[in-house]
Amino acid sequence: MVVAQNYLHPDQPAGGLITDPSGETGVLARYAWYRDYHDFVGERLKLLAEFMDELSGLESRSLWYVDTGPVLERSYAHRAGIGFVGKHTNLISRELGNWFFLGEVLTQVRLEPDSSQPNRCGTCRRCLDACPTGALPEPFRLDARRCISYLTIEHKGSIPEEIRPLMGQRIFGCDDCLAVCPWNRFAKQSRELESFLNPELRNRPLERWLGMNDKEFRETTRGTPLFRTRRGRFLRNVAIAMGNSRQRRYLASLEQAVMHDPDALVQEHASWAIQHITDNPDPDPSQ
Ligand code: SF4
Repeated sequence: MVVAQNYLHPDQPAGGLITDPSGETGVLARYAWYRDYHDFVGERLKLLAEFMDELSGLESRSLWYVDTGPVLERSYAHRAGIGFVGKHTNLISRELGNWFFLGEVLTQVRLEPDSSQPNRCGTCRRCLDACPTGALPEPFRLDARRCISYLTIEHKGSIPEEIRPLMGQRIFGCDDCLAVCPWNRFAKQSRELESFLNPELRNRPLERWLGMNDKEFRETTRGTPLFRTRRGRFLRNVAIAMGNSRQRRYLASLEQAVMHDPDALVQEHASWAIQHITDNPDPDPSQ
């Protein structure tokens, strides 16, 4: 059984990009405005699995997953009728657009299967054209090596230099291919996740991240999606966003990071950011 939990917050536009023109805070993927969804979706799935076990009377226990086990969730969700796979390789729901988490319950309870849906992209190719790094070279093919979401969250090492200027202010994930999808006209806002929101993360100035030691980082991000990315990788992203802001006010913090940050990954990206600001200064001299 596959379930979808919509997460579009009332402050988030269903379509269009979220940006940070001031270069102050950077931009998080929409889902990262909340605490770690593995926790709160998992709590609900656990209740569902227990309910199904009670209902069935079978001795075997149902198992639940939310992006945590060896479960091909997108493929199962498609087969379960949740939605269809778009050209951006993500699942689209005709009721929720692009903004939802998936969860699965593996059970021996016999259920009537729903039917899967055909692709409904038609001639649209907005997601392919919108990707800032060209990570969708053709429909249904994602090049993870160029995907900002993969690079800012999963990738452990240095980010390729030719990709860095294309990342803009994105410091954790990227929603662009989802945000431009016309199926978002059916997106529904979720008010029930309000209590899981963490405004501290998305409003935190870039400068306050860069000076943070490992203990502070873990305390600030515990229970959020940022925690598992770890300090070094996240501050690498922050340094790139500072560089892309082209604002000279960041030079002192970046120089501190080059000289004193304990992580070579952060040093290297801070050094790149200094060079990038120096070579491409913001035309507004007040910055
Ligand atoms: S933006 Fe267009 S092509 Fe891309 S997934 Fe949505 S409908 Fe399909």
